[in-house]
Amino acid sequence: MRVIVVGSANLDTTVRLHRHPGPGETVLAEGEATGAGGKGLNQAVAAARAGARTRFVGAVGDDDAGRRLDEVLRGEGVDARLARSERPTGSAFVMVAEGGENAIVVVPGANGDVDALSGRFSTAEQGDVVLAQLEVPIEVVREAFRAAKEQGATTVLNAAPSRALPADVFALIDILVVNEHECLDLAGAADALLEDAATVLSSRVPTLVVTLGAEGALVRDAAGERRVPAFAVTAVDSTAAGDTFCGALASRLALGDELTAAVEFGSAAAALSVQRSGASSSAPRLPEIEEFLA
Ligand code: ADP
Repeated sequence: MRVIVVGSANLDTTVRLHRHPGPGETVLAEGEATGAGGKGLNQAVAAARAGARTRFVGAVGDDDAGRRLDEVLRGEGVDARLARSERPTGSAFVMVAEGGENAIVVVPGANGDVDALSGRFSTAEQGDVVLAQLEVPIEVVREAFRAAKEQGATTVLNAAPSRALPADVFALIDILVVNEHECLDLAGAADALLEDAATVLSSRVPTLVVTLGAEGALVRDAAGERRVPAFAVTAVDSTAAGDTFCGALASRLALGDELTAAVEFGSAAAALSVQRSGASSSAPRLPEIEEFLA
């Protein structure tokens, strides 16, 4: 079985800072690097490194950045199905402060091109896991999930970055993965307790996973609620922790693991990724994850 990731691909420019600037303030960076990013690409690389046969469906521009992302995906063994948009390849500016906390600005470019992205989702098969995020237009997620459900695939939505979800898209989700902020936003309950927001969301999808950073994850499905603790590590860069978690989780689901085991595996992969800088490049490979879990 395969993981089919539908989503964004960006060329990231990452700067390391002593601390984040406030409004109107200028700070000096300690270094700069470019790398492959975008939630979709990060999750595809994480799934492939974690051992799943992985396809990525996305859009890039007809430019150097797009060619570089294509190369990165192929180099990772991902079956890259990249539409060429007339818009430029998406880009992201990632600021990482000491302690690993980040702030990110994304310019969607080709990732927002519905015409380039549509009509490309008829190839999922029974047992595949179709994983999407919200850095591409909602129409694209709807189309991909409709096709996935028709073909007997499992749909996983990482509802990030947070935005309102139409009811018909909610109805197509098998597993919803959100972080704490996305959980509160999506439940429409920014001031509520996390538990209450999780109750609202878990009434709308069969399975809910709420990631809680260093606190681990909360899982709710028909079997009830359980907490999966995070691994105690020293984080230097939390960029793509959620993406590594989602990609690794999807890879284990495609390989037939049950949910809790897949969440533990995702947590281990994410714990390894936060110990080094970079987005997709920080995702660990299967032997490293297995050794960490042993
Ligand atoms: P996001 O990056 O989407 O905000 P989280 O911060 O919730 O997502 O992190 C996703 C997962 O990554 C967590 O559930 C946890 O397993 C792992 N993780 C994140 N930060 C840490 C950390 N500091 N130490 C260990 N694991 C972490």
